[in-house]
Amino acid sequence: MGRAVCPYCGVGCVLDATVSENRVKRIDAVADAPNQGMMCPKGALLSRVFDDEKRLLTPMLRQSKDAPLREASWSEAVGFIAERFSAILDQRGPGGLAWYGSGQLDTEASYVFTKLFKGCLGSNHTDTNSRLCMSSAVAGYTLAFGSDGPPTCYDDIEVADTFLILGANMAVNHPVLFNRVRRRRTDSDTARIVTVDPRLTKTAEHSDLHVPVAPGGDVALLQWVVRRLLDTGRVDDNFVSAHTEGWTEQRAYLQSLDLDDLARRSGVADRVLLELDATITKNRRLLTFYCMGANQSSAGTDKNTAIINLHLMLGEVGKPGCGPFSLTGQPNAMGGREVGYLGHQLPGYRRVDCEQDRAEVETAWGRPHGSICDTPGLTAVPMFEAAARGEFEAMWIACTNPAVSMPDANTTKAALRRTPLVIVQDITARSETAAYADVLLPACQWGEKAGTMTNSERLVVRSERFLDAPGDCKPDWWVPAQVGRAMGYTGFEFESHEDVWDEFAALTAGRPCDMAGMTNARLVDAPLRWPCPHPAHPGDARRYTDGVFGTPNGKARFNLSQPRVPLETPDAEYPLWLTTGRVAAHWHTRTKSALSPELARQEPRPFFEVHPDDAAALGIEADAECVITSRRGLAKAFARITERIRPGVVFATFHFGDSFAPGVNLNDVTQSACCPKSKQPELKACAVRVEKFVSVSQEGAAA
Ligand code: SF4
Repeated sequence: MGRAVCPYCGVGCVLDATVSENRVKRIDAVADAPNQGMMCPKGALLSRVFDDEKRLLTPMLRQSKDAPLREASWSEAVGFIAERFSAILDQRGPGGLAWYGSGQLDTEASYVFTKLFKGCLGSNHTDTNSRLCMSSAVAGYTLAFGSDGPPTCYDDIEVADTFLILGANMAVNHPVLFNRVRRRRTDSDTARIVTVDPRLTKTAEHSDLHVPVAPGGDVALLQWVVRRLLDTGRVDDNFVSAHTEGWTEQRAYLQSLDLDDLARRSGVADRVLLELDATITKNRRLLTFYCMGANQSSAGTDKNTAIINLHLMLGEVGKPGCGPFSLTGQPNAMGGREVGYLGHQLPGYRRVDCEQDRAEVETAWGRPHGSICDTPGLTAVPMFEAAARGEFEAMWIACTNPAVSMPDANTTKAALRRTPLVIVQDITARSETAAYADVLLPACQWGEKAGTMTNSERLVVRSERFLDAPGDCKPDWWVPAQVGRAMGYTGFEFESHEDVWDEFAALTAGRPCDMAGMTNARLVDAPLRWPCPHPAHPGDARRYTDGVFGTPNGKARFNLSQPRVPLETPDAEYPLWLTTGRVAAHWHTRTKSALSPELARQEPRPFFEVHPDDAAALGIEADAECVITSRRGLAKAFARITERIRPGVVFATFHFGDSFAPGVNLNDVTQSACCPKSKQPELKACAVRVEKFVSVSQEGAAA
């Protein structure tokens, strides 16, 4: 038997694996955990992820792009990387090196990569797929509260009255958490669920009110709501005056807005708007869940601060049952932020552009003053764009598949072709990114390594190792530590994941995400929420309960959120909006979930949803194979005609890459425009046209 946190979504379900002869025979959900004995089919079917005929078992490398990959020992692979990195540092300097990681790496691996790249190699060009899902939430929390990290916890669900779910299909993507929400709705006479989404999602179906917002209409919608609160005298004046700043400007700004104009921009009918207003008015204790629909936008930070503004006006932060609650899409997106793996960060929510922060980390790492570069590194999109221009000598990609998951993926593929040294560290060669690797490094997967992850509610969970890893697979943290040692740096003498954890946790002492009290022994015993500053501390369920925030003067800030439409809007050539998302059966680019026949059968091929009016106008019948085309590229998918989607909008998933079938990668279509504050790309909206697919042979027959 072994216990580990589920490696899929950010709910962080704790699961028990029954093991026999080094095989997982059965998965059970743990009752005494945030998932309260529940799990979804992805967690329940985790035993299938081990049947991977393309599992990486030994390091592989090639000396040059035109040479075939060949097997290598770990010492040869590590020596090869160390030698090439040293040469790049000599010839190009640290700017020639980049690392692209993942919210699926555990905290220990994220920490050692950050230490190697930022502390030793001197490159802040470290970003991860968390940039694609969470960076607008990071920016929103930091601007408003002075610190990243949610003020809330899952236990707020059982005491909340109104659930406002915005840009999150929780029923599909965070199903266990949504079960808790639905249970609260059933158990309470007063609880209500409101879902804001352009689609009638499964979450919206189970809600009391569906608010079908137009793509890009979220900020206008939220401003309509707060302007109504202001006009009808429902602002918590005591809270606002005692615990916030910027209210005078915020109020003047809101008063300058026209309610009718906001309603029009939101795309929501007046009747629905009034019902939304009445629901928020009738109940107190508003708990707002939000995810990619809020974050993956050129106005992502504004959407986040608009949500927080609403809570500040109501005085509903830092109290049971209420608050802005950003959901994480990946199991350790929170932990990666805590170790500071994004290009502007350092461990413990420190920043590379703060001299004191750099000095503290350099001292802790035993590095000379000035070792850490004071300039934030390139974020995900500009990093791959720079690589496509030939500006990097080496990219190390760990635990992620950017050839499928990056927006405008053709640019990413060009970057991977052009970069002289591409290192891919993963559990499998089935990822499309692995096809571009000059060095392949085999990593342990779930159950084969011990490590730590932080879920959406700041709960730090330790996973056990309960399987022997096959072949030469190693824990992810071990690999950068070996390269650091091979390059002659000190500070990489870790014997175990516990050593890494001890060093990282000590670096968080006195910081907002203080984990100094989380000893290895305590984490083995039970998960803990941060802040947890000393070994007798139980961990705080909620933050800001005293009304003191993480800003220099302790006050939360109102931010002016501008209603903005996405940067690319439909026109005569590309007349439809494309919005993207996930389905319950698959996980990101399917490198694990596709190994389960049960899951693969549920959604066996790429599809898109289109409204019957649009389908009729386009001459598309149900199940027709179609091509979705944007200014950047195209992707084929099969039509699902449904009134669940607004007219003028099509919805498709990004799960399928070129290894499934050529020409199906939806991210060949999406755009790489980013939020100017968070640098998160606008994966949720771009302009497309849709046509029936006509094969070359069909064209020939017609001629
Ligand atoms: S809800 Fe998320 S964490 Fe829980 S079992 Fe499903 S995928 Fe795993």
